[in-house]
Amino acid sequence: MTSEALKPWERRRQVERVLNPRGDIRYAGLKFAVDMAVRYEWNIEPVASGKQRASQKSRTVWTPPICGEAELAVFAHEGGHVQDPDSDGRRFVAVQGKDGERWAESLEAELAAWQWAMARLARTWWGKIAQITMERCLSTYQRGNVKTAAQLTIFESVLKEGAFLAGGAVPLRPRPSVDLTRLREFHEGDARTADIQRVCDIMRRL
Ligand SMILES: [Zn+2]
Repeated sequence: MTSEALKPWERRRQVERVLNPRGDIRYAGLKFAVDMAVRYEWNIEPVASGKQRASQKSRTVWTPPICGEAELAVFAHEGGHVQDPDSDGRRFVAVQGKDGERWAESLEAELAAWQWAMARLARTWWGKIAQITMERCLSTYQRGNVKTAAQLTIFESVLKEGAFLAGGAVPLRPRPSVDLTRLREFHEGDARTADIQRVCDIMRRL
């Protein structure tokens, strides 16, 4: 049976089977996660913590049970990838890794998905743990993907937006510093930066 053929309560039950498999989670944000999945018609599949991902094509989010704020934040972030209206064109970029070139999610896609998550979770569900979770995820992108001063500004502004939502009291942990000599090799107003800003604006309005 395809998910389209299911009645709303059946869809809900199906989502709950993954987000709360044993029915014993007391975290209040769980209901919010279920509501989001039903509202945006995501297909939900189970996966171990740390292996969360999303497929826009099949509108699928792979997630562990939603036991707390960290899981909810990443769940909303993955949903942000599904909802991203422009994901195909910019979701993956080739990056130079230790073992040669590999494909990774673009900084634009990451920032857009986090902004989508923040806009949904807002003040009610976005607290210090969500903020720290986002920082941890984004810090892996900073080193290879933030290449211009303007990109760094936008990157930092997303972190600040989250800190503000979380109550303004989140100590931003030191992140790997950006090599300023390298920054100067790039032009500040390059097209990719304009693209990030545009995507952020679009995502905010959704
Ligand atoms: Zn992501």
